[in-house]
Amino acid sequence: MQEMILLKLGELVLKGLNRRSFEDRLMGNAQRRLKPYGNFRIYTKQSTTYIEPKDDNCDMDGAWGAMQTLFGVAGMSRAHSCAKDQDALFETAKTYLGDQLRAAKTFKVESKRADKSFPMTSIALSQYVGGALHDAFPHLSVDVHHPELTVTLEVRELAAYVHADPQPGAGGLPVGVNGKAVALLSGGIDSPVAAWMIAKRGVALEMAHFFSYPYTSQEAKQKVLDLANILVPWCGRLTVHVVPFTAIQEELRRRCPEELFTVIMRRFMMRISERIARRIGAGALVTGESLGQVASQTMEAMHCTGAVCSLPIFRPVVGMDKEEIVRAARKVGTFDTSILPFEDCCTVFTPKHPRLRPVLGEVEAAEAALDIEGLIEMSIAGIERIQLK
Ligand code: ATP
Ligand code: MG
Repeated sequence: MQEMILLKLGELVLKGLNRRSFEDRLMGNAQRRLKPYGNFRIYTKQSTTYIEPKDDNCDMDGAWGAMQTLFGVAGMSRAHSCAKDQDALFETAKTYLGDQLRAAKTFKVESKRADKSFPMTSIALSQYVGGALHDAFPHLSVDVHHPELTVTLEVRELAAYVHADPQPGAGGLPVGVNGKAVALLSGGIDSPVAAWMIAKRGVALEMAHFFSYPYTSQEAKQKVLDLANILVPWCGRLTVHVVPFTAIQEELRRRCPEELFTVIMRRFMMRISERIARRIGAGALVTGESLGQVASQTMEAMHCTGAVCSLPIFRPVVGMDKEEIVRAARKVGTFDTSILPFEDCCTVFTPKHPRLRPVLGEVEAAEAALDIEGLIEMSIAGIERIQLK
């Protein structure tokens, strides 16, 4: 009998007919994330996924860390399995949770009895083990309302389990159950958060980054790859499509009215991202736009940028305040990298007085001076694909 990890599945259980494929996806994602930490047996029963080390070489702390970023998990605990017997449960709780029992002042025992053939009721089992623990750790007192430590006993089909301190999981849905999207990743604070939010809804992502060398530096590109790397534990493996954007921006500067630069530049980003999406079989684009945050993020500007593509555009941070986005960025782990001072391609080419409320007809007229298709094809031909694991 051994230490293991229990993952309580979240929304999965609500999904009726899809449940099986959701569970399979979650287990597959878990399997891949656990590879660096050893060989594990993974199986799911009654909305709980069990992760058992197959041998003594498994790194349980590493595995525990890896599971904290697994979308689809509502709650998680480290547990110890034992025989389905009241004394075995007591002995396991006493040794496995010894440190926590010694440190706590108040405790209670809670039992769940999924195996209905187990001879004791949940209440009788809790009372038995609770009493024995109280004898073994006499400094403890029982507090059924606000205990410092809750010892949980589960009697299930294959074995019994002892654990304490369940922690919230990453939430959301397993990456991959809701298809694939292309996330437009700049070096800023917002787009990594937006990508993370959509990955959380079970969407596998590939990233598009528009790169304006030499106006923006190699460091700026590296910063974006660093951000993508921070997202890998959440999203799984990622491909970053680095799109050369300099020629397009120079052409816009030559031929388009300065006040429409930003919106036209954005339209090129959307067109190219949509081509990437179609090529890889993705069904949506994701951006980090937030309503009213900057001039290019008005309703009218979003209308103009959205008008060039037919795939849905997800803007999950559209209704969030900057502070809320910053809080999310800290939680995801991207914030400190996002605030590094390297210029983004948009910053370099930002007009002094961008049009706040661009009109679609006027923007289209301004683009008539451009060889749109030629510019897109040239850019796409220069894409560098970088795989992150
Ligand atoms: P962010 O913090 O994500 O950079 P922002 O507030 O700076 O966003 P904008 O510069 O207006 O906003 O960009 C809006 C969105 O367009 C970004 O969130 C991102 O999705 C996309 N975008 C902007 N620049 C790039 C780029 N160089 N490469 C890829 N996507 C970009
Ligand atoms: Mg930005």
